[in-house]
Formats: sequence, structure tokens, C-alpha cells
Amino acid sequence: MRDPRRDVPGTDRVLADPAIAAAIENLGHRLVKRTAQQVQQRARDGELDPSRVVAETLAALPDSPSSVRAVVNATGVLLHTNLGRAPLSDPARDALLRAAGTTDVELDLHTGKRGTRGAATIAALREAVPAAEAAHVVNNGAAALALAATALAAGGEIVLARGELVEIGDGFRIPDLLTSTGARLREVGTTNRVRLDDYRAALGEQTGFVLKVHPSNFVISGFTAAVPAASLRELDAPVVVDIGSGLLEPDSALPDEPDAHTALADGADLVIASGDKLLGGPQCGLLLGRAQLIERLRKHPLARALRVDKLTLAALEATVRGPRPPTARALHADPARLLRRARALAEQLTAAGLPATAVESEATAGGGGAPGALLPSAAVALPERFAKHLRLGDPPVLARLERDRCLLDLAAVPEECDETLRRAALAAG
Ligand SMILES: *Cc1c(COP(=O)(O)O)cnc(C)c1O
Repeated sequence: MRDPRRDVPGTDRVLADPAIAAAIENLGHRLVKRTAQQVQQRARDGELDPSRVVAETLAALPDSPSSVRAVVNATGVLLHTNLGRAPLSDPARDALLRAAGTTDVELDLHTGKRGTRGAATIAALREAVPAAEAAHVVNNGAAALALAATALAAGGEIVLARGELVEIGDGFRIPDLLTSTGARLREVGTTNRVRLDDYRAALGEQTGFVLKVHPSNFVISGFTAAVPAASLRELDAPVVVDIGSGLLEPDSALPDEPDAHTALADGADLVIASGDKLLGGPQCGLLLGRAQLIERLRKHPLARALRVDKLTLAALEATVRGPRPPTARALHADPARLLRRARALAEQLTAAGLPATAVESEATAGGGGAPGALLPSAAVALPERFAKHLRLGDPPVLARLERDRCLLDLAAVPEECDETLRRAALAAG
């Protein structure tokens, strides 16, 4: 009998096929070749007719050389760290695409000379936070903290309250980050209480700055006392406030959440925040405050290692200048409207024979912002078994499991995705 393996076309012949050659244009040679070789192997193993190798290779190829999948966030957690935190606004996405080419990120087109990198982004931040004399952008919130600690306190002390030695998530502990820069921590107060005099007694020659950290993922309640930034200004040391969440100004939806403008107006010398939390922008770290401190940070050699790329600068400017990004819209969503959407969706699914009901629910900001704050929301409840099928669907839909139910919470789902959700639920049923 003839060995069927001899009929399997060689790699060169497969790659020379016109449809495969077109795929190489889109996906690159290596990826297509590897896929073709896997299919050839299946044919050699007798799992596949040799005449099907080209067709199967084409079928097995991905749409894009990037494996990143767009997913629907139906968890009710607006800023889900595992889902990339804040989704960008449309103008921010456009800006990012434009910046992806050759751009004027560091060139002044009027003079033809080198310009300040990201000058327009810095200007946008300063306009949005008038209390900030200057601004600087680094890779993320942790980088902003590391830069401040290195430039202002390495070899010296950072004075901070014991109750603010926090772990943000995934094992990231702010005190460990701070001491890794060569600064020492001078802890004041107790876990639940600290007074201005505690800070005052700790200040000395060694003090680099006083740090106030917003405990962005937990609340201490009961017999507690903290010192607001407004009182810390009385101390004879620079006051750095890590607000975490990145609100530039107060937000009525989250009355207890600190914001950059208020912290600076209250007397903070430097405010540190993330760009991809409640601000709703790209991953980055914002440093806002006194010009002389920002200048010290900008000039420090470490600043170069923490520098943001042109994509981030472009997306951040568009976020700060542009319309409310999805995160802010979700924060201010009308619960009655969410419930109407949930009812419409549940009705359509029920009509198609699925056991779906619309329920009121509670969403959270998540991702290091507004701990304990519950946002009124609405969801479609399905049996628990749907969750896995939804997650493995196309597009993947991430639901929330609550008391044996699979909840599709609409708080973080843009309205135009309701049809996608409907189809995903039908496919999962
Ligand atoms: C999230 C957070 C950070 C870290 O910011 P990243 O942008 O995640 O690096 C630091 N401090 C506080 C208070 C935070 O909430």
C-alpha cells in the first residue's frame, strides 16, 4: 500500500499557494509557516487528507498576528485589572493610531527644532488641574512613586502613617517599592489612628518628604483618625499625596474619592495618580504639583527609564481634553436606564427559550478606586453554567458569579454592545 505521508505537500509548496502567500502579507512568514507545519504534521499522522493541507492551514490562521482579544466586561467592576483597567474613549483610540506613525512628539514644527516631549499633553493636564504649577508623566503610578522617592528621599526618610502602608494588589506593596529606591520609611501613628503631632515628631534632617497614600482598595472604619492633606501643609517638609485613582477634580458619583485639584489646593506639594483608573485613560503615572519639585523629578537620571511612549502621551492628551471617557460615563450611568436595558435583553433571551431575568445589582469602581462605594446597576441573571461558555465565546464575555447565578452586569457594558451580549448569551445557551 502506498504511504499516504508521501502525498503531504512540502512546506515550500504550501507557502507558495496564492491564498497562503496573501496571508503571509498580513500575518508574517513565521506564523504562517508554523501553522502550515502543524497542519502538515496532522496530515502525516493520518488525521487529515493530504489534499486538505492548504485549506486547513488557511482555516487555522488567526485574523491578526496579535493575540489580544477584545472582551466584553459584564462583571460590574468598572476598572478590572485583569481586563486592562480603563477602556479608552474613541478620540483617545484615534490619537493612539495617529501617534503610531511618525509624529511630532518631540519636535516643534514652527521652529523645526527639538521640542519638549509631550508638551501638549502636559499643557492639557495643567489646564485640567489649574492648581498644578507643572506636570510630568511616567509609565504608571508605581513608577511615579519610585521616581518621587528616588529623587526626593533616597538616602533619607519618607514619613508616612502606619495605616497607609498598603498592598495594592497582586502582591504589590507600596512600602516595598519605596524602600527599594534606597529611601527609609519612618512610620508614624498606629494602624487606625494618626495625628498631626505624630508627623511633626518624626520630622528631621533626614526627612525627604511626608507621604500620604490613599488606601484605594479597603476602608478602615470604627475608631480611626487620619490627617488630611490640608493639615499636613503645616509641616516643614514637602507633602506628597498618592491619590491612586486619578480623578483630576471631584466627582459627584464618588464623594469620598480624593482628587488631584483638591489635594493640591489643600496644600499638597506633589500629587501622584494613575492614568488608567478613574481618569479613564491609558496606563501611565501622573505627577502634578510644584514646578520646582517636578523639575527635580524630570531631570533625575531615573526619569529616562520611566519615560512614557508617544502612544501613551497621545491617548492621555485626548482623554484629558476630550469628551468623558467610558469609565466616567459608566460612573454616571442612569440606573433606570440600565434596568430598562437589562429588561429588554432578558425579554429577548426569554423569548428565545433561555432562563433569563433582569435584576437590580451593584457595580463597583474596582481597580484601586473608591473602595466600598457601590454603584446602582442592573444585570441579566442566567444559570451559573453560562459563565464558562460566555468566557470561551467570541467575543469572550466576562460575567460575575453571585450566589450560584451568572450575572451579566451592564454597568461597564456600552449600550451599543447589548446586541453582542444577546448573541453571546444565545450562543452560550
Ligand atoms: C493603583 C495605585 C498605585 C499603583 O498605580 P499603578 O498605575 O497601578 O502602578 C499606587 N498607589 C495607589 C494608592 C494606587 O491606588
